[in-house]
Amino acid sequence: MTSDPRESGPVPERDWDRAVELVSAADEVALACHISPDADALGSMLAVGMALRAEGKRVTASFGERRFRVPRLLRFLPGQELLVEPGAYPAMPELMMTFDVPIVDRLGTLAANAGKARELVVVDHHASNTGFGTLNLVDPEAAATAVLAEELLVRLGLPIGRRVATCLYAGLVTDTGSFRHSSTTPRAHAMAARLLATGLNPEEIARELWDRSPFGYLQVLGAALDRAVLEPSTGPGLVWTFVTRQDRVAQDLPYDEVEGIIDVVRRTDEADVAVILKEDDDGAWQVSTRSKGAVDVARVCAALGGGGHARAAGFTSHLPVEQTMESLRALL
Ligand code: AMP
Ligand code: MN
Ligand code: MN
Repeated sequence: MTSDPRESGPVPERDWDRAVELVSAADEVALACHISPDADALGSMLAVGMALRAEGKRVTASFGERRFRVPRLLRFLPGQELLVEPGAYPAMPELMMTFDVPIVDRLGTLAANAGKARELVVVDHHASNTGFGTLNLVDPEAAATAVLAEELLVRLGLPIGRRVATCLYAGLVTDTGSFRHSSTTPRAHAMAARLLATGLNPEEIARELWDRSPFGYLQVLGAALDRAVLEPSTGPGLVWTFVTRQDRVAQDLPYDEVEGIIDVVRRTDEADVAVILKEDDDGAWQVSTRSKGAVDVARVCAALGGGGHARAAGFTSHLPVEQTMESLRALL
């Protein structure tokens, strides 16, 4: 694959050089992505993992969840053979790299391993990244962490074949909302072109990511839409709904199957902000927020202990739905 000159982002040259030095010198590399991984987190990690293993390095990859389980819709990603349960992860990695992780908490149980790593390379595109690594490759202008993962592989001189490209493309296409979000730049499309040139199958990737689910999903989606509330009088205009654990249990639907419902809710013309509260298997509420631009939801979610991007952010709540919504409304 050609390595076109990239627009240089805010990652300084000396940091890229240092990353190349560290990775080149390592025999063993431990990779991690954020808990409840999305395609950008898991895809970036597996892409780098496959390329490094092909170089003969020992690679382990994981995410720090007690109930370690790859979301069903990401099981098509190549490179899953690199995954180990967090319990089998190196306790004190020589070189650990994190993908799409803005704050150390999002490493879950692997935060402890990161704390003991000799070198910790953070690869991320969240503006809110706290710089918790010994080396931080963070570019908030990058459409996805996959953009930085590709750049790292190019700088390492590693080939990007179809399997690696599939993982990077899944991250890029997801985080740009299928090239609909404001992150859809010439740079993002140029990257897509390079990845497509490897022969990956964009139709199959799109179907796996967005166009399939068990029948029970229709019932849960119906329940969520049925209880959606529009509050035009709340600040910028708010639409919100929730999905309980009971909704999912009744349909035998795992938590990650309901991640996409926010994309239906956020269509609402009358609302600038869309919110969905999803009860996970531990009974905690995972709150997803989306903004059309007037409200910085990353700021709102950060105030509630979470984070994310200006137009897509989230937090975890242990309070009942109505109380969580009250705190949220107060910040809008
Ligand atoms: P989601 O709504 O799960 O698609 O997440 C949208 C954005 O918010 C992503 O960039 C996540 O990294 C971030 N995010 C979601 N949940 C949390 C959380 N509990 N804490 C911090 N950031 C979160
Ligand atoms: Mn992510
Ligand atoms: Mn991302």
